[in-house]
Amino acid sequence: MSKEPVKAREVSPEIRIGNFQEVVKGYSEEEALLEASRCLQCKNPLCSAGCPVGIDIKKFIYQIKQKDYQAAYLTIKEKSNFPSICGRVCPAEYQCRKACILTKKGSVFASEQAINIHFLERFAGDYARDNQINTKVENKKELSKFKVAVVGSGPAGLCCAGELARKGVKVDIFESLHKTGGVLRYGIPPFRLPADVLDFEINYLKKLGVNFITNFLVGKAKTIEELFAQGYAKIFLGLGAGVPSFLGVKGENLCNIYSVNEFLTRVNLMSAYKFPEFHTPVNIGRNVLIVGGGNTAMDSARVALRLQKINGLPLNTTVVYRRTEIEMPARRLEIEHARQEGIKFEFLVQPKEFIGDDQGFVKSLACLRSKLGEPDSSGRRRPVIIEGSEFQIDCDLCVIAVGLKANQILINATPELKTNQYSDVIVDSETMESSIKGVFAGGDIVGGEGTVIEAMGMAKKAAQTIINQLLKKESSNA
Ligand SMILES: Cc1cc2nc3c(=O)[nH]c(=O)nc-3n(C[C@H](O)[C@H](O)[C@H](O)COP(=O)(O)OP(=O)(O)OC[C@H]3O[C@@H](n4cnc5c(N)ncnc54)[C@H](O)[C@@H]3O)c2cc1C
Repeated sequence: MSKEPVKAREVSPEIRIGNFQEVVKGYSEEEALLEASRCLQCKNPLCSAGCPVGIDIKKFIYQIKQKDYQAAYLTIKEKSNFPSICGRVCPAEYQCRKACILTKKGSVFASEQAINIHFLERFAGDYARDNQINTKVENKKELSKFKVAVVGSGPAGLCCAGELARKGVKVDIFESLHKTGGVLRYGIPPFRLPADVLDFEINYLKKLGVNFITNFLVGKAKTIEELFAQGYAKIFLGLGAGVPSFLGVKGENLCNIYSVNEFLTRVNLMSAYKFPEFHTPVNIGRNVLIVGGGNTAMDSARVALRLQKINGLPLNTTVVYRRTEIEMPARRLEIEHARQEGIKFEFLVQPKEFIGDDQGFVKSLACLRSKLGEPDSSGRRRPVIIEGSEFQIDCDLCVIAVGLKANQILINATPELKTNQYSDVIVDSETMESSIKGVFAGGDIVGGEGTVIEAMGMAKKAAQTIINQLLKKESSNA
C-alpha cells in the first residue's frame, strides 16, 4: 500500500505556457487505485462534512478501490451534478481535503498527506464521460405537464435545470450571452477547464430535454411577470455575480487597464488568444500587472503570461496583492502553477494611483507597502499602510481582479424582488424561494462570489423545493 500521495500528471511549465491546453492531466486507472488505497476508510469520516454538498466520499473512494468506477460516479452524482467539473475546479484544500483526517489539526488548508479527493472525483467523472454513463441515466415523466424558466446558464442554472428535467419538467434556460456555461465558459480558462468537459454536461442536459435560449437578457427582453404569463410554473434565478469591482484609485480609467471580466471574457469566451482567426482582439502587455489574490487574479495572470509567450514577448507578469500568500483566496494549486510558470508576486502592496503617458495609456502603478494588522470582518488580517513607503511598478497592461458583484439589470426590473445590502437576492435558506412566490434563486446571486460546488448545492436545494411544490400541485389537481 502506497503511503505517499499520488500526484496528478501535469504538463511541464515550459510547454504549457505556450498554449491554452489543459495543464493537469489527472489520474490513470493505476494512479487512482493507488491514491484510493491510501484512504483510511475512517469509521467516522470527517471529509464529507467538509464538502459543501456532502458527497459520500468514503463510499465513492471505496468503490474506486473495488474498481467499480460506475458506482463511484453514481455515488458522487447523488450530491454533485458535475463530478468532472468539480474534480477540476473545487478548492478542495479548503473543503473536503482540509477535513480529511490526514490533514494536521489547525492547518489553514489541507496538508499534502490528505487524500487527493478531488483528483479521485475527477477520475470517476472522466470515466463516466469516456464511457457515456451519463446518457444511461433515465429521466422520468412524472412532472411533464409543467414548464420552468431558469435564468442564467452557469453552474447554478445548469444544476437546477438538470434536477428538474430528470423529473420530466420542461425546462427553458435563458442566457444573456451567446454561449452557455456562465463563468465555467467565460471566466475559468480552458487550461483549467476544457470546453469539451463543460459541453459534455450541457449536451447531456439537452438530451434530457432542456432547451437553451441564448442572447436573451431577462429583465430587458422579458420581465419575470411576462415569463409567468407565458405559462412558466416556477422561475429559478442563477444570475451569478458578473459585475466587476474596481479599486477606486486615480487613473483607473486609463487605456490598457482591464476589468477581470472584460479581460477573461475576451480571451476565454471570444477566443482572443486565437486572434485574427477569431475576431475579438485583446491588448497584450510587456509589463503586465494583475491586482488581486483570488482565482480571478490567478487566471488573469496565467492568461496574460500565455499571451506574452504566444506573441513572442518577454515573460513579465506580476501579481500585486495587499496581503500575504496565506490570505490569498485563490486555490493553492493555481498559486503553485502560477509560480511554476514564472509569474512574480508582490505581497503587502496596496495600489495608490495609476500613472499614464501623454496618450492616455497606463505606464506605471504607484503603490504603498503595507504590513498585516488585526483581523477584519473576513477573519483575515487587515493590511495597514506603511507611511512613506511609496514606490512605482512599470506596467503597460493591468487587470483589476478585486471582486465581483451582482448584476442589477433583472433586479432593477423587478422591484418586488428583495435584496440585501450587497444587492444579492434574499431567499429562504431552506427553500431558496425569494420574496416573490414561485421565484427561486441560487449561486453567486444569493451568496455573493462563491464556488461552483456551492452554487450547485443551492440550485439543487431550490430544485427540490420546486419539485415538491409541483408534485403537491399535481396531486391536488388529480
Ligand atoms: C475567473 C473566475 C475563476 C473562478 N474559479 C473558480 C474555481 O476554480 N473554483 C470554484 O469553485 N469557483 C471558481 N469561481 C467562482 C465560480 O465560478 C462561481 O461561484 C460560479 O460560477 C457561480 O455560479 P452561478 O451559476 O451562480 O453564476 P455564473 O457562473 O456567473 O453564471 C450566471 C449566468 O447568468 C447569466 N445571466 C446573468 N443575468 C442574466 C439575465 N438577466 N438574463 C439571462 N442571463 C443572465 C450570465 O450571463 C451567466 O452566464 C471562479 C470565478 C471566476 C470569475
